[in-house]
Amino acid sequence: CLASIKEHNAAINAMTHLAPASQLVASADEAGERWKQGRQRSALDGFPIAIKANICTTDLPTTCGSKMLERFTSPFDATVVSLLRKSGALIVGKTNMDEFGMGSANLHSVHGPTYNPLSAGSANDRSTAVVAGGSSGGSAAAVASGMCFAALGSDTGGSVRTPAAYTGVIGFKPSYGRLSRFGLVAYASSLDTIGILARDVDAVRTVYEILAQPDQNDPTSLAHSTSKPSHGRRFSSGNLTGLRVGVPQEYHVENLHPAVLAAWSAAAARLSELGATVVPISLPSTRHALPAYYVIAPAEASSNLAKYDGIRYGHRSSDPPEKGAPLYSATRTEAFGAEVVRRIMLGTFVLQASSYTSYYQQAQKLRRLVQRDFDRVFRLLNPLHPTPTLHDSVASGADEATRVDILLTPSATSPAPRAADLAAKTRAAPVAECLADVMTVPASLAGLPALALPFGEPAQGGLPVGVQLLGQFGDDETVLEVADLLI
Ligand code: GLN
Repeated sequence: CLASIKEHNAAINAMTHLAPASQLVASADEAGERWKQGRQRSALDGFPIAIKANICTTDLPTTCGSKMLERFTSPFDATVVSLLRKSGALIVGKTNMDEFGMGSANLHSVHGPTYNPLSAGSANDRSTAVVAGGSSGGSAAAVASGMCFAALGSDTGGSVRTPAAYTGVIGFKPSYGRLSRFGLVAYASSLDTIGILARDVDAVRTVYEILAQPDQNDPTSLAHSTSKPSHGRRFSSGNLTGLRVGVPQEYHVENLHPAVLAAWSAAAARLSELGATVVPISLPSTRHALPAYYVIAPAEASSNLAKYDGIRYGHRSSDPPEKGAPLYSATRTEAFGAEVVRRIMLGTFVLQASSYTSYYQQAQKLRRLVQRDFDRVFRLLNPLHPTPTLHDSVASGADEATRVDILLTPSATSPAPRAADLAAKTRAAPVAECLADVMTVPASLAGLPALALPFGEPAQGGLPVGVQLLGQFGDDETVLEVADLLI
């Protein structure tokens, strides 16, 4: 991993801060000894893990990709980091990201963009460079280029799954609340989820099993009983007979890349070959998910980011307040990037008294419709609303046999775009970057477990494409099991 960091980090800019190499080597040697004696602390003892720059660590800065926190080091570890340390895992470094998680391509970071290891160009010529995806682009690029065994990211609307899709690795967003958010710097709290990136499903599962613990420091953390459906591993024989897979027609969007469409069909065919029953289904509210997300996420962000005031922590403007603008606005103007400013303004707008009912409240209603769509098609009841309403039963035909266990969709609408092309499009219309999120945002609004995996023939230029598996809330296990058999 250290060799890979040395060789590739300058070109792809995946890691923002590194743990001292000598310290890592010494800890790895100690872990090696423990393994030899059969005293390893866990299945992860001695394994190098990279951590996204918005997850707090006491030994390395937590910049969130922002000038606001460029010199911030947390006085405490995030719960997920403490659990990793306890398991013997080695924290290799912090990974680059879109500022405060806002973006889909890792083009908005105070540390500069992260490039896709599959086509990064060189530091002198980025004309052919392809994006790594965002906002956990640094974590995905670090995994794809062998800088770590696995990496943690955060996924609010797709930030683990999109970069995984673009770099050809696995990206898993567990059910909301399954992994503690304590120590994850908030972007949109009702959506923020810690996710895991690795090169194979086994590695993802190993990390996941260590991190999936209830945490009293996170009020939205799930108790074991809510989060673990009782069926356990169902398909250990490698045969998916009995599994019903839904293919939601609404994900067949107009601009779907032919290589993605081919991968989606190939994955469906593979699942039937394995014994599953694949059926078309409909999630009619899907088209409302993206607009609802882009009202709710900025609204929550505008509130969460109000704390960066230049007083308690982070950047402080050195302009004396009496000469220039008040300290608060001078600090924020200097230290927030353009995308963050846009989100704060949008969020403040949708929350103000005169637009609250027409934007924020409507978006919340749409969110509920998206959640209901999912509850109607899954065979397993949602443990958060276990009694289906009369309305739901009528709408679904209430027939168990028409319901499914898992959903199969594309993970992104296209392979990774070229950085220069996307930057130009986004400059012309910032919404261009948001459109990339249409495949990932519905699962975020409903808090469902979702996993992106590479599948099918790469697109032109060798760029990977893939599919996404979505499970009922709390049914992370089925998602992991099916992914393992599908890949
Ligand atoms: N691209 C989405 C956004 O900018 C999702 C980001 C994320 O999941 N953190 O909000």
